[in-house]
Amino acid sequence: MVTQSTEKGKAEDLRKEAEQLLRNHQDTIQIKSATLLSKSGGDLAGMSDKDIEKLVFEFQIHQIELELQNEELKRAYQELSASHDEFSRIYNLSPVAYLTLNEQGIIKKANIAAIRLLSDSKETLINEKLGKFIHPSDQDNYYFFIHNLVSEKNSQILNTKLVIQNSVLKQSECQSFRVYDCSRSFCRQNEPFIYVELRGSANNNFKNDIQIYLAIQDITEYKYTQETISCLNEKLEQKIAEQTSQLIESNQDLTHKIEELKYSKHQLWEREAKLNAIFNASIEGIITIDASGIIRSINSAVTTIFGYSEEELLGSSYCKLISPSQSKKQGHDVKSYLKTKRPNVRGLIREVDGLCKDGSVVPLDISLVEFSIEGENYFTGILRDVSLRKLQEQKEKEHLEELAHATRLCLIGEMGSGIAHEVNQPLTAITNYTQACLRFIDAENPDLNQLGEILFKVHQQALKAGQIIHRMKDFVSSRKIHRTEMDINTLVEDAVSLCATDFKQNNIKVKLDLAKNIPDVTIDDVQIEQVLLNLIRNSIDALKDLPPKKQPKIVIQTCMKNLDQIICKVIDNGSGIDESLKEKILSPFFTTKPTGMGMGLSISRSIIEAHQGVFNFNSTPEGTTFYVTLPIKRKIK
Ligand code: ADP
Repeated sequence: MVTQSTEKGKAEDLRKEAEQLLRNHQDTIQIKSATLLSKSGGDLAGMSDKDIEKLVFEFQIHQIELELQNEELKRAYQELSASHDEFSRIYNLSPVAYLTLNEQGIIKKANIAAIRLLSDSKETLINEKLGKFIHPSDQDNYYFFIHNLVSEKNSQILNTKLVIQNSVLKQSECQSFRVYDCSRSFCRQNEPFIYVELRGSANNNFKNDIQIYLAIQDITEYKYTQETISCLNEKLEQKIAEQTSQLIESNQDLTHKIEELKYSKHQLWEREAKLNAIFNASIEGIITIDASGIIRSINSAVTTIFGYSEEELLGSSYCKLISPSQSKKQGHDVKSYLKTKRPNVRGLIREVDGLCKDGSVVPLDISLVEFSIEGENYFTGILRDVSLRKLQEQKEKEHLEELAHATRLCLIGEMGSGIAHEVNQPLTAITNYTQACLRFIDAENPDLNQLGEILFKVHQQALKAGQIIHRMKDFVSSRKIHRTEMDINTLVEDAVSLCATDFKQNNIKVKLDLAKNIPDVTIDDVQIEQVLLNLIRNSIDALKDLPPKKQPKIVIQTCMKNLDQIICKVIDNGSGIDESLKEKILSPFFTTKPTGMGMGLSISRSIIEAHQGVFNFNSTPEGTTFYVTLPIKRKIK
């Protein structure tokens, strides 16, 4: 309908235009005719044939011109019509909604996109006020926008973002304003309105009526996206602000820690400087080796002791500094420690022979401490050159030996008595045994086996007497005492067996309480056996006076006193030593016995002390105990 009425209007317009042109041509023809007529004195009949021909020609030309113009107009009309069709198609196919409004804002034209956007059908949309679709909150803005378009007329374009009601939704659903809430989902499918952008221009149409042209674009998604982005930005800014403040705090913490570290570093540096000063000023060599025995650090005293330079020692094996006879043992110590973790090298001070660069041997005291850095074990050894001390010790030893020799010479008189006393005992035994032999021989059928046993005992006692004399000779001479490693229990058993007859004769009960697996002691076995014999015989003598009801008893005990000493006790249940005599009994020549010499205890004490042992006793009316403590010299394993 619109197209038909438009075409009819156009045809009428053309007709009017053609009539106008004809009028203009008639005027021209009339002028030309008038000219020709004036030439002929105003009389058409008076016109010459030539003029008439000219006039006819003019008419014909003019007719052709008109026909040409008509053709031109037809072509223009066809082009215009095609262009209009094309525009209509584009207009209706466009996804952008287009509206044409009149001056009052009433919708006069709408493309399909606009109809879909605002209404259900074209009929319900045309002649409606666009303002009806504008959201109440945007009414003012809308009318101001329309007013601007109308007042500015042509070529005025105003871009604005408006909220309009979605015509598809019911009016009741459009009551509330949408409030954007970041906490909600970003999906806005059921909102009662949409966001659009209006772009408008206005001009006067050919009837001089004002026409407003609007393009409407749905920007809801864009708007939501923008809001989402802005919300995310807000969150991001908030997060950034939080993190910034956290960073500032951590930064402050870090600064504080850096300050503390600087301070600790300074303190460490100071401590290290002090330690280095001590390390290098120490007169004792300090050497650090790793678990494989490689030297990692040394102080200057080490170079002084061994004569090597620092470069010659760092990175080499520590065995280089130990004399070959000891390096094997020391190496074993460290390796064994690493394997067993037993503190056989840690903390102990050991004497080792160090090997100097020039091949000389230097006596050293060495103590090792272990530490670990990042799981790797290291040992630090403190080395002390004890050459001077050893020299001093040697001198002192020689001096002591001289003194001992002098003392021994002084004691020679005492020893004479001692010898007599000690030899007296085996001699008495020999006398007793030989008397017994004589009695056996006198018998009718002498038991030769028993006779042989007694003679063997005689032989043993004679040997013992010889040994005593021999040992006494050694004691008086300056020759060193020969010591051997002995089991103390064996000596006890030997001494007890020598007194077996006495025990029997005096009805004495003997008990041996000897510790098993007791370590050997390094002793002069004859001397120690003499001591034990002397103590046992004194106990036998003390038990002779015991009342008949009381069972005389001797107990001999051996045990460890501590890790480094063993102790041997000779205990009897005699009537003890009178309180007033306790101080005297160890003095030479003190005796309470009619035939006694008073040398036994004095010599025994000398012997034990010469073994770096302790000799003492304890006596009560219930009995007497003598204690012999001897040092154990352990083998270095
Ligand atoms: P002797 O045996 O020749 O008297 P000793 O030096 O061996 O010399 O002993 C000194 C004294 O110590 C003894 O005379 C005795 O009085 C006392 N004595 C030694 N051992 C004991 C003992 N087990 N019980 C009581 N008195 C003892």
